[in-house]
Amino acid sequence: MLEKVLIANRGEIALRILRACKEMGIKTVAVYSSADRDLMHLSLADETVCIGPAPGAQSYLHIPSIIAAAEVTGATAIHPGYGFLAENPDFAEQVENSGFTFIGPKADVIRMMGDKVAAKIAMQAAGVPVVPGSEGELPEDEEEALRIAREVGYPVIIKAAGGGGGRGMRVVRSEEDLIRAAVHTRNEAAAAFGNPVVYLEKFLENPRHVEVQIMSDGQGNAVHFGDRDCSLQRRHQKVIEEAPAPFIDEEARQKVFARCVQACKDIGYRGAGTFEFLYENGHFYFIEMNTRIQVEHPVTEMITGFDLLKEMLSIAAGNPLSVKQSDIKFRGHAFECRINAEDPDNFMPSPGLVKHYHAPGGNGVRMDSHLYSGYRVPPNYDSLIGKIITWGETREEAMGRMRNALDEIIIDGIKTNVPLHRDLMNDKGFMKGGVNIHYLEKKLKM
Ligand code: ADP
Repeated sequence: MLEKVLIANRGEIALRILRACKEMGIKTVAVYSSADRDLMHLSLADETVCIGPAPGAQSYLHIPSIIAAAEVTGATAIHPGYGFLAENPDFAEQVENSGFTFIGPKADVIRMMGDKVAAKIAMQAAGVPVVPGSEGELPEDEEEALRIAREVGYPVIIKAAGGGGGRGMRVVRSEEDLIRAAVHTRNEAAAAFGNPVVYLEKFLENPRHVEVQIMSDGQGNAVHFGDRDCSLQRRHQKVIEEAPAPFIDEEARQKVFARCVQACKDIGYRGAGTFEFLYENGHFYFIEMNTRIQVEHPVTEMITGFDLLKEMLSIAAGNPLSVKQSDIKFRGHAFECRINAEDPDNFMPSPGLVKHYHAPGGNGVRMDSHLYSGYRVPPNYDSLIGKIITWGETREEAMGRMRNALDEIIIDGIKTNVPLHRDLMNDKGFMKGGVNIHYLEKKLKM
């Protein structure tokens, strides 16, 4: 087993990683910026190291500081969590080159999946269904580009190979706009991501976002942990997730699961990962792979009874997968509401002092949060301050428990999006299930 893990993150995920380490008897090192001295997990960690001032670029994103913290504390492995350096191949490489275990896939796999054109080609080769479009990069030759778009059929979407976080894409609805849009997206991508390569896809009008959780040991074994529906999004940011995804064609689902597992074996994938798909009219279309643990992993844990973080740690220590596919049983339904420190009316961040905090409880309720009464949410980072996760035998039961939890939670002193969640849990369309990725934005405009 791993001896001592440095947690290269903050907030709720740092606490989540710490809990898994403690359960497994692994020592922990918590690193923090000077804005984060009051983080809950610091008092629970075996050692703590301040790695720099508040700005992420000088602390949680500053690779030399994190490696130095691992060196001085004698940590043997580094868990990146999500965000920050989690999908930075140079970080993974430097961690390994410095003699530490990176808790995640190999750097070259992260690099390939970070290039969406390369990822798409690799997935297609592995038999994973992708959105129809340009085979690889969209050529600069105008005639060639127009021909490809005509074949795919309008509307199309031009996307940056190096894009992320919902940025670097443009929808094109007619032929006269194609070339200009391609040039714009290329220029933007070069400036924002340092990579001008763009590709073209069919623009799906009303898809759902459905993703598949996998775990692979890099020793030839891989399993899936089912799917999640994350269609409720605002500005491409997920707001509520659930597992399993409701109303999915069972044959298409089993086929896509099998393909994801095979793809992991083909690329020698190691650790936890997520294949993201758009789902429309009974078909799955791969859009990208996330090579890390995701915010919404708890809904999968709730319906499988399995601890994904502990398995990540075990795999990083060199153990083979602890489960076979046939060991993984799915039971019931789970929801996750992401609680953000933000104004529910205009979505502006709302950092500050949490005067009073009360977590919801009861059967089937899980609260993953680093909040406590008297904690001050710093203004420097992502506004996620916690996640309420509920489980039930049925979707309705899980939803009822979520309504209760949202009624019980108290976060006094700052504004949060709890009112939005209360509203959504009573929304007719969402209650029915299977809404598409535009549903929330349309509702908010009404
Ligand atoms: P990012 O890495 O920036 O999140 P993705 O490729 O995952 O980029 O796409 C983000 C979101 O953009 C998707 O969840 C979906 O809402 C929308 N999108 C991407 N590709 C398409 C497409 N071909 N058709 C329709 N919507 C798309």
